[in-house]
Amino acid sequence: MNPAQFNQLITDTKYLTDKQARYLEKLLQGDDPIKHIIDELEQRMVDKPECPHCHSTLINRHGKVDEMQRYRCKNCTKTFMATTGTPFARLRHKELWLDYLRCMLASKVLRDSAAECGINLKTAFRWRHRFLKIPATLKAKKLEGIIEADETLFAYSEKGSRQLSRRPRKRGMKASKPGRSAQDWVPVLTVRDRGQHTFEVVLPHVTIESLTRQLKGKVQKDSVLCSDGYKPYIKFCVKNDLIHKRLDVSAGIRVLDQVFHIQNVNAYHSRLKSWMGRFHGVATKYLENYLGWFRYLDAEENLNENRLFRTEQHLIGT
Ligand SMILES: [Zn+2]
Repeated sequence: MNPAQFNQLITDTKYLTDKQARYLEKLLQGDDPIKHIIDELEQRMVDKPECPHCHSTLINRHGKVDEMQRYRCKNCTKTFMATTGTPFARLRHKELWLDYLRCMLASKVLRDSAAECGINLKTAFRWRHRFLKIPATLKAKKLEGIIEADETLFAYSEKGSRQLSRRPRKRGMKASKPGRSAQDWVPVLTVRDRGQHTFEVVLPHVTIESLTRQLKGKVQKDSVLCSDGYKPYIKFCVKNDLIHKRLDVSAGIRVLDQVFHIQNVNAYHSRLKSWMGRFHGVATKYLENYLGWFRYLDAEENLNENRLFRTEQHLIGT
């Protein structure tokens, strides 16, 4: 850049919006996390070339798009970028992602996030769910020691769907049938050990089969499972060499031997519910994503962007 161009650049900076200025500042400091991730992805493509479409390892460079390398597969002839198949594919307005993530980390609602980033609601919605998918995959793979299991219910919601298969429930209105009715409630099973490893899943029916399907290989032998004594939990313990402790709260039994209880999982549920409150009911089809987001926020102390990005990088690398 010649001195005249440089002077022009400096003059032009006064027209930057606050957001643009912040972005530029980050760029100059060399800590643009998005670029960092994209660099990582591109490096991975160099180290371990693989077509995301057919998994062939025979790929060629094929020009550049927005300064990003494009590739072409020799086998299926499709073109792709290093970001293809990752949450970063097809996202536009890269400079806004960081702002948007910051909003998500602050658990801001959609409308506030959209306003802060200067994007429309539809875009905000799309981004949210793209980013939300990331922590949704972060579930405990191993549960051990004293493990607590319990279910909690969320109101069924078709919020955001164009066609409702049934009459929408007005906010604040009581669902017609309380309890474990599949009509109005979506049960979420949470299994959490004392090391705060948390496994969660939307599980319409807690049965020995569904528990086995979800928890097999995750719960370590000789662990102790604490539950409300619902039959399938007991059967699951018998089948998997686990000690079962039944907490019959209605009979006043909240704690056994001073250490066996389900109060951690219940406290987790109440934090989850109060956090979910701000979204005024989430669509059931996205419930898993929100659960993942909360699991992530709840687990991380001193959460900041760098940690979220590190997590993303980790996931992209898996
Ligand atoms: Zn291919």
